[in-house]
Amino acid sequence: MIKELPWGAQDRTLTGDDSIAHDREKDVEALEGIFMRGVILPGRERVEMKEFDLPEPGHGQVLVKMKASGLCGSDLRAIYHEHTGSGAERYQNVIAGHEPSGQIEAVGPGVDRLGPGDRVVVYHIVGCGRCEECAQGFMIGCSSRERAAYGWQRDGGHADYLLAEARTLLPLPDGLTYTDGALVACGLGTVYQGILRVGVSGRDTVLVVGLGPVGLGAVMLAAAGGAEVIGVDLIPERLELARDAGATHVLMGGEDAVEEIRDLTAGRGTEVGMDCSGSAAGRKLCLEAAREWGRVVYLGEGGSVTFEPSPLLLHKQLTLHGSWVCGIHEMGNLLEHLDRKGLHPETTVTHTFSLSDTRVAYEIFDAGKTGKVVILLEDT
Ligand SMILES: [Zn+2]
Ligand SMILES: [Zn+2]
Repeated sequence: MIKELPWGAQDRTLTGDDSIAHDREKDVEALEGIFMRGVILPGRERVEMKEFDLPEPGHGQVLVKMKASGLCGSDLRAIYHEHTGSGAERYQNVIAGHEPSGQIEAVGPGVDRLGPGDRVVVYHIVGCGRCEECAQGFMIGCSSRERAAYGWQRDGGHADYLLAEARTLLPLPDGLTYTDGALVACGLGTVYQGILRVGVSGRDTVLVVGLGPVGLGAVMLAAAGGAEVIGVDLIPERLELARDAGATHVLMGGEDAVEEIRDLTAGRGTEVGMDCSGSAAGRKLCLEAAREWGRVVYLGEGGSVTFEPSPLLLHKQLTLHGSWVCGIHEMGNLLEHLDRKGLHPETTVTHTFSLSDTRVAYEIFDAGKTGKVVILLEDT
C-alpha cells in the first residue's frame, strides 16, 4: 500500500498492516517512514528547503499537520539576515517559523484532551512547566535551560508537519481560520497582552506607532474595543493598511507628529500609547504625545532609547509598561474574544505563499511594505 502525500512524495515503508487495533497507535504507525519538507534559515538571507523524517509523537506530544505559518518581524531581526539572537532568541538551525496553526494528525501516549482532526494554535514556547512563570502560563518567561521555542530552538511551523507538546496547544475555534490562528500564535498574542497591560477601552484615544504586522494588530484590537486610534509610520503603504484595519487617523512620523497628535486630541494628548516600532523615535513619540496620567506600552523589540524622564515620564504621571508576548491563558482568551466578536486578524495579511515559495515570502516581507505575510500549506 502506498500512501499519497500532499507534496507528491511517497511513503517508503508502509506495510498496510491492518492488525493494529488501537486507533492512536494506528495513526502513528501509518506515518512511520514518511518524509516531510521543512525550511531552515541559515542567515545572510538564505532560505533552504530540506527533507526530514516525519517525527513520531512521544509521550504528551502531538503531530500537527501544518495549515498556516506566519512570518514574524523577529525572524528578520534575529535570524534571516544574521543569527544575532542570544538566550531566548538564539536560533539553533531548526525548522523556522514560530507562528504555527494546523490540524492534529496523530497523538502520542498520554494525550487525552486532543485528538486527530482537532484544529489548533501553537503557543510557541515550551517551558519547563515548573517555574513561577510557567506556573502562570507565561512559558515565554521561563528561564530554565529546558525552555525551547518552536522555530528558534526546536522545529517550527515552516514545514509540512510540526511535532508539538500537547500542553502548548490551544483549540482553534470553528469561527476562525488557520491564518487567524497563525497570527495569534505570536504577533497578535503580543498585541493582546499589550492591550491588557494598558487597559485600552472605548474611552481612550490610542496612539499606535509602527504599523507593521504587530502595529496593525494593535489598531485592529483597539478599534474593535471602541477606541479612537491614531496610527503613525514612515511608510505610506502601511498608513493605508492601518486605515483599513480601523485607524481613525493616520499620519507620517517626523518632527511634526507630536503637534499633529495634539491637534487631533484637543491639545490634550493620547490616553494610551503603544510602540510597535522598536525605534528610539517611536518610543519617544509615545511618551511625548501622551496625556497626563496616560499609559504607554513598549512592544517593539530591539534598539534603544534615551529620553528625559522628568518632563516625559514623572511630571506627566505616566505609567510605562514593557510587554513580551503573552501567557497561554491570555492566548486562549484572545481566541475566544476574536471568535465571539467575529474578528479576523487575517484581514491584516497582504501576502500569502506556498511552502515552496518561502524564500520569496521572506524577501517581500523584508522589504518592509507589507502587512502580515503567511505561508499556507493547503495549496501545496
Ligand atoms: Zn514572533
Ligand atoms: Zn519554566
